[in-house]
Amino acid sequence: MNVLELFLLVLLAVAGLMAWSFRAQYRAVGERHARELADQRLQREAEVRAQVQRTAALFDRMVEGVIVVDPTGRIRLANRAAGDLFGFTPPATGRTMLEATRHHEVAALVTRLDTEPEVLSHELRLDGVSATRYLQINALALRAADGARDGAILVFHDLTRLRQLEAVRQEFVANVSHELRTPLSLIKSAAETLMDGGKNDPAVASRFLEIIDKHANRLTLLIDDLLLLARLDSDRVELHLEPVPLRASVQDVLDDFAIVARARGVRLDNSVPTGLAAKADPERLRQVLANLVDNAIKYGRAEGHVVVNGRSLDGGRVELILRDDGPGIPAEAKARIFERFYRVDKARSREQGGTGLGLAIVKNVIQAHGGEVRVESSPGAGAEFFITLPAG
Ligand code: ADP
Repeated sequence: MNVLELFLLVLLAVAGLMAWSFRAQYRAVGERHARELADQRLQREAEVRAQVQRTAALFDRMVEGVIVVDPTGRIRLANRAAGDLFGFTPPATGRTMLEATRHHEVAALVTRLDTEPEVLSHELRLDGVSATRYLQINALALRAADGARDGAILVFHDLTRLRQLEAVRQEFVANVSHELRTPLSLIKSAAETLMDGGKNDPAVASRFLEIIDKHANRLTLLIDDLLLLARLDSDRVELHLEPVPLRASVQDVLDDFAIVARARGVRLDNSVPTGLAAKADPERLRQVLANLVDNAIKYGRAEGHVVVNGRSLDGGRVELILRDDGPGIPAEAKARIFERFYRVDKARSREQGGTGLGLAIVKNVIQAHGGEVRVESSPGAGAEFFITLPAG
């Protein structure tokens, strides 16, 4: 082998080695690239899966009910809220609207979309066995990319709570107007009587001035109570919490009512143990106790007995119990006496100067303290009011 042949052999060997190394490198790069692509695909699939799960969770947790139907009117997808509204188990795929909702009006909406592309704010009243519900429905015809009809989507908003609040608001406004109008018309007719000559007769004048004074006071009380309730509703009442010794606090209120109680022959007793304390705003607690003691004297038995007791409860709470021996509260009224303007005997309450707001204030003030109030009563056996408060 001459030098040239040797050189060529070495060259070939080097070329072979380079090609091998090149192939190896190329294969490694190719494999790495394929691995990277596979990784990217897996990552994209995981992202898509996560996105689908997020969308499904969102769809299912929506407050609004949603039903998507296919072009034949059968359900493709429905969320939990839709199932709850109509009483079916989602997704209810393949069922007709009528089968799932059992409501002709809802099923008819899908048909209506054949002529109208969109039905907005259609209102529906569902009369159930136990309650009536109000729904607002928005329906939209869906189109595929080629413009062909591709079913529809229906969104259901439950308006029931809103309607209930609206009814409560309307009733409240009607009650307030009525409560204001009664004393106002009495004041006005007394003023007219005075102007029509009554003022010239001192006896008539003083009688009608007393009427004006009494009803003006009633108006002031009513407006004060209304303003306080409005402030309690909007959390604008600042509570100055401090440990309040309950026996002393109850005694202060009983002392304030001593004259009123004596006039009705009612005995007031304080049996709250010494050392019992609540974490409360002393002025607000006084107001609560005053409302309850006032009621116990007013609605309890003439010549009767009102007693306030107290005890500690588990969980760092204390309880005050105010008992009278009057006619008590009828079973059907027990759940309602804490409502604004609710009275068992309207005439009796008005005659006693009640605003019908006392117990609503008691409930709101106690709840603002994080406490609770309830009543127990068997007709004829008196009423017992229980207040729980955090211990002081
Ligand atoms: P009012 O201004 O009419 O006293 P409240 O809200 O204080 O308003 O009380 C609501 C109603 O609850 C009263 O009108 C009365 O019918 C009833 N009530 C309250 N306390 C007693 C009680 N101790 N015994 C019997 N009925 C009561």
